[in-house]
Amino acid sequence: MPQLKSAFYTNEATFWHSAGQYILQFPVGGWIEPPAGSAHAESPESKRRLLNLFKRSGLMDSFAVNSAEPITYQDAKLVHDTAYLDELKRVSDAGGGQLSAPFRVDTPVGVKTYDIALMSAGLAYQAVKDVYQGVYQNAYSLSRPPGHHATKNQAMGFCYLNNISIAIEKAKKELGLGRVAIVDWDVHHGNGQQDIFYDRDDVLTISIHQESCYPNESIVAKGDEKSAIEACGVGKGEGYNLNIPLLPGSGEAIYLYALDNLVIPALEAYQPEMIIIASGFDANTLDPLARMMLHSEAYYKMSKRMKRLAESLCDGKLVIVHEGGYAESYVPFCGLASLEALSGKKTEVESPALDFFISQQPKATFNQFHRDLIDKWCAYFKEKTILQEQISIV
Ligand code: ZN
Repeated sequence: MPQLKSAFYTNEATFWHSAGQYILQFPVGGWIEPPAGSAHAESPESKRRLLNLFKRSGLMDSFAVNSAEPITYQDAKLVHDTAYLDELKRVSDAGGGQLSAPFRVDTPVGVKTYDIALMSAGLAYQAVKDVYQGVYQNAYSLSRPPGHHATKNQAMGFCYLNNISIAIEKAKKELGLGRVAIVDWDVHHGNGQQDIFYDRDDVLTISIHQESCYPNESIVAKGDEKSAIEACGVGKGEGYNLNIPLLPGSGEAIYLYALDNLVIPALEAYQPEMIIIASGFDANTLDPLARMMLHSEAYYKMSKRMKRLAESLCDGKLVIVHEGGYAESYVPFCGLASLEALSGKKTEVESPALDFFISQQPKATFNQFHRDLIDKWCAYFKEKTILQEQISIV
């Protein structure tokens, strides 16, 4: 039987989303001088440059490249409240601006944001659908706006519709998708999936992120300041939400340690039918919105581990959905590394300054301190979460 291809989903329309005039994450006006060039952190540039490098490297030729249909209002309702969607559509159709109070946190709406967000979610869904149905081995969806901060009823952190959650709910409804695991390694907390699936055991949500970078992971879960680690889910969902809040400055060694000791054992215990990665590249060492130290080689290793795990657990069914990542210079190399791991094909592209970034990695003292911390979390998770099931299996 011929080996199935990897697939890549994108649509130029999603690159044209704009939330207004910003410099990085600050709205222009008052004391904030307008930028000379491109503006908002969540701009098309990092994604477009990834797409261009993907093309120029030749790797795109070994992928099946597709677009998709946008999802519908009814699809979005599988995840989001009607009142929120109606407000998002109203402001979007009116040319953009701020959502009204209960739906607004920090994320303004641009011209046709609603329609572009439907397309962004549509690309994620098509990737999930095609991989689940065995059309392709695995897939990468590159689109914007991102989705992992969007809750049931609020736009947050440059996100409007929770792309991955909608893709999962639609696939559950229309295709019979069962247990699915989301591994969110965007540097910011995957609060959207946590909010949406907090009381569910049919979706395992894991977020590995920089502690309290955005938003505060424990306050989002519990409404108080209890530890992020303790936010493990409620009701049927108790034990199916894992937060891994790494300390600022963490590099490859700590990310791999957390993957090997927490994420992978949790997934092995859970036995998902499919693994979806909410993949931000904003834990890279040059990102302006975070303080982590990953480099392209680390993303290659992390993606490779997830690919191997998917092969051992769920017939290789793995979908990577692009989330954040704001260093226009470096996201393309981290993204390409993930695409290389996904396809199993290395390109000739040389990632710039890799030796320098490797030389900057935290040394033994920091790493040992952090490993001890992760070991403590591991002990807690074995008491309180899906990780405990692994004990009974062994
Ligand atoms: Zn992020």
